[in-house]
Order: sequence, then structure tokens, then C-alpha cells
Amino acid sequence: MIEAKLDIVENQNKKPKPEGDDLPFGQVFTDHMFTMEYTREKGWFQPQIVPYEPITLDPAAMIFHYGQSVFEGLKAYLNSEGDIQLFRPEENLKRMNRSNGRMSIPPISEELVINYLKQLLLLEKEWIPNEEGRSLYIRPFVIATEANLAVAPSQSYKFMIILSPVGSYYPEGIHPVSIQVEEHFTRAVRGGTGTAKTGGNYCGGYKAQEKAADRGHAQVMWLDGVHKKYIEEVGSMNVFFKINGQIITPELNDSILEGVTRKSIIELLKHWNIDVIERKISMEELLQAYEDGQLEEAFGAGTAAVVSPIGELSWQDETMIINGRQTGDLTKFLYNTITGIQTGKLPDTFNWTET
Ligand code: PMP
Repeated sequence: MIEAKLDIVENQNKKPKPEGDDLPFGQVFTDHMFTMEYTREKGWFQPQIVPYEPITLDPAAMIFHYGQSVFEGLKAYLNSEGDIQLFRPEENLKRMNRSNGRMSIPPISEELVINYLKQLLLLEKEWIPNEEGRSLYIRPFVIATEANLAVAPSQSYKFMIILSPVGSYYPEGIHPVSIQVEEHFTRAVRGGTGTAKTGGNYCGGYKAQEKAADRGHAQVMWLDGVHKKYIEEVGSMNVFFKINGQIITPELNDSILEGVTRKSIIELLKHWNIDVIERKISMEELLQAYEDGQLEEAFGAGTAAVVSPIGELSWQDETMIINGRQTGDLTKFLYNTITGIQTGKLPDTFNWTET
């Protein structure tokens, strides 16, 4: 590990830690944050940990106008020995640099960031909940800071990491949700920015989400933007189907975000010798499988929920009820295995966790 020196300014006004289980996602933040600056002349410089506080930016800062930014999302857990555990953080940081590349933002040393993150987590260790299902959500992000209204990549950036304790995604146990297949709006399109974790991809999806919510659905299933035929993702998760014993997930293309959970599930299934295939899958094929009684399970996969079973899927005039709206055995098994590895309750045979 390379030496990662940084300045630390301790917060003298520490906040009380939240108690109880009703911890809303992403609304409570810890006492400190990590910040680092970039200019063309200096590269990335001035890494520091400072008290969590608002930042000041010029109103002409490019982030406000053209949205040049990327973000990441991962979690830290406390294992039974009281050590901080991260789940495949290098995968998130590699993805951050892929996103940076797509958004014309300069790369950041993944090794240095992991080192800085670990120093921040050590300082904030008391904020990591050790109750079942809870964790500390980590949000690294980069924003364009140059004050300039020209439509061009910024000459300066700010990289930050903020931390937020989060409650269990499933306080009442894992439960299937109802999903609406979106026929009009598109999350990402060939040649677009779908493979990058950048803000615009998410706010561009709100309209479809509102539509689905109005019809009583929890989330949207996204189809490809060219043919509106092939399944891409569900909400902000990758998606898996179990059809006649085989697991199918849409193959990566340049409009699907490559999830760390998706990658881990594929590796687990292969390790268990369960038939898993990455390929295009259309809504027609899915409906046919459903009508033939072969659609056994369907679930989304992402850091926030780990897996989110789909109990009901509405597409055009069809409604598919999957596995009698119950969580499937494979979905449950994947959930228990991944959360077990993340929290240190199960052996980490794949070397996925870092302490
Ligand atoms: N797709 C999208 C669009 C996402 O935002 C996310 C969350 N990062 C995922 C998939 C799942 O990725 P991960 O498993 O790395 O959380």
C-alpha cells in the first residue's frame, strides 16, 4: 500500500449518533468528510479530512450547468470482531474511473482513494452501526468546479467522500415488489452515458418512476432505448431471471451499468455450478416463459438492497405474478450468502472483503 498522507481537521462539535431502526436512507451524515482538489497544473492535490459541513462553490461552477459529475455507492460493515469490513471496494473505484473516463473527468488513483477512505472510516468507526442489517453507506463523488459557462470539460474538480449510516433495507424481512415495464422513457441509450454513474442518468428516470408510482408500482423496468424490446435494468439495479432452472441476466452493453452485486452473483452462481448466462433477453421471451410456467424467479441486484425480488411485473396489458409473489429460494440464498460475507458471518472464500 502506498503512503497516503493527508491533513486531518477534527470536528470539535460531534453530533449524536442516531438510534432506533427508522433511519431514512441518506439523510444523516457523520462528523467528517474527505475532500481533494484537482487542477490541470497540479493534478489531484490537498487530500484532507475535515468536519462535515456545506461547501462553497461559484454559481458559475460547471457542475451546476452541464452536470459534469460522477458518484459511487458502497457500504462498510462491522464484523463480529469489531473490525471495519468493506465489500470489493476496488470494484467501485475501478468503476468510478470508468465513469470518470466517460465524463471527461481525470482519473484518480484507486489505491490512494482506498487508503484515504480507510483513514476516514477509522475516524468515524463509532458511526458504523453493528446491528443486523445496518451499515455505513459510503458516497464518493466528483464535481466540476471551474467557474465557466463554456460547454467544455472543467479545468478543476473536487472529489469528496461522505458517509451516512443506513438502516436495514428490509426491516420486516425481504419482500417482493411490483414493477412496471417502462414503454416510453429511456434510462440510457447506445452511445450514451448509461455505463457511467453520473447524476443525469438518475434524474432522467424520475418521470418514469413517478408514472410507475402513480399506478401503484415500486419501480420501473428499463428496456433498451433503440428497440424498446430487450430488458436492461430495474430501477437502479441490475436484473436476473430464473427460467426453467437457468439464470439469465442481460449481457453488458454500453447502456447498462455494471453492478458489483451483479458481478458477485454471477461469480457465486458459477462457483456453485448453477447455470448462469449473460445474454439479451426480450420482454416477448420473458412473457412466453411466464406463460409456459417456466419463469421461476426474478430479482434486482444492487448495493442498497443486495437483492430485491420481483413479485409482480406489468408490461403493456399483461401482469405476471412471479413465484406466487413469494421470495424465491435462490433469491433468498443469494441474499443470505452475500450479506453473510459482507458482515463476516460467512467465510470469505472469494477474498471479497477488506478490513
Ligand atoms: N444499475 C444502476 C443504474 C445503478 O445505479 C446501480 C447501483 N450502483 C446498479 C445497477 C447496481 O450496482 P451495484 O451492485 O454496484 O450497487
